Amino acid sequence: MRIAVPREIKRHEYRVALTPAGVHELTGRGHDVFVETGAGVGSSISDDEYVAAGAKILATAEETWSEGELVLKVKEPIAEEYPRLRADQVLFTYLHIAADRPLTDALLAAGTTAIAYETVQTPNRALPLLAPMSEVAGRLAPQVGAYSLMKPSGGRGVLPGGIPGVHPARVVVIGGGVAGLNAARVALGLGSDVEILDTNVDRLRQIDNDFGGRIRTVTSNALSVEQSVLEADMVIGAVLVPGAKAPKLVSNDLVSRMRPGSVLVDIAIDQGGCFADSRPTTHDEPTYQVHDSVFYCVANMPGAVPRTSTYGLTNVTLPYAVQLADHGWKKALQADASLAKGLNTHAGALTNAPVAAAHGLPS
Ligand code: NAD
Repeated sequence: MRIAVPREIKRHEYRVALTPAGVHELTGRGHDVFVETGAGVGSSISDDEYVAAGAKILATAEETWSEGELVLKVKEPIAEEYPRLRADQVLFTYLHIAADRPLTDALLAAGTTAIAYETVQTPNRALPLLAPMSEVAGRLAPQVGAYSLMKPSGGRGVLPGGIPGVHPARVVVIGGGVAGLNAARVALGLGSDVEILDTNVDRLRQIDNDFGGRIRTVTSNALSVEQSVLEADMVIGAVLVPGAKAPKLVSNDLVSRMRPGSVLVDIAIDQGGCFADSRPTTHDEPTYQVHDSVFYCVANMPGAVPRTSTYGLTNVTLPYAVQLADHGWKKALQADASLAKGLNTHAGALTNAPVAAAHGLPS
């Protein structure tokens, strides 16, 4: 099969959909891989590394897209890319079309077979192609929180790990799922005093067991959140209620009573945020002040570490890309129910029921 990897052109997107290891795997199986020049530069991967792995480098987006029977991308096509969509093409990427009518219309009009990373779902309801980005955002959260805690950043002037004889920072993580647990793990590694709140007691049981009590676990409710937040130097919000906006768990009034210079990192900002005063920020201007606290609410945290994010993402997408290339999309989806859940559009129709319902269209 002919596989194309265009350069991502959405603003501030530095990831790429395939690494040289992926090229090596696919070409080793007899496929042709075409990579647009510079596609890997944002993730510190050179054209030469792709060539050494067996790819052909093409000079323009037009040439690259037109070669692809299977097009591998990271982000959804933007308006400039709509004219490149075709009916005889399979597109495998993050799509998020439930909230994007223009893209939905473009995919339907072109008749593209589009498989979305974010709706690939395993039988236990896990979302394997989203998990690595939650891992990245979670592990990054204490790092950006630690920076924000420094006095010149407007923070309380607390070192996360303290020193012998001086208390470490108190880090409270609300939501102990993929992102929250990764945040807690790094905060613990920095030497902080770490507490996780979650509504799911089984989850807390597992964390308590895994960490031998080194991370305190607390059942999440309005009173426990208030008590923990008032004693925190850093609060990391990482809750998710599937299919819903994030619940607002920290009010403006509660922030007004927090320790001056405390830091709140809202990882859940891409679902609306779990603090009442959260609003999306960018890597250019990631923080702002509410009362005497510092808020960090970057909606695409993995964008700050594109090399790690690219490798994390492609580790989980490549096995599916191999199935699509080896067997063709129809057989690959028949053989793998998780991948089949990823199909969003085909031959001018919406094929994913929740996505179709979001647009009020039949599936
Ligand atoms: P997850 O489903 O693995 O974990 C969510 C956890 O929240 C679950 O354990 C759940 O029990 C818990 N929870 C739900 N309601 C709660 C409440 N009221 N109090 C305490 N805990 C509660 O989800 P995840 O993969 O860890 O994702 C967490 C959030 O991070 C999502 O909103 C996701 O979209 C977001 N995210 C953001 C970025 C970013 O760049 N900002 C990147 C990746 C993921």
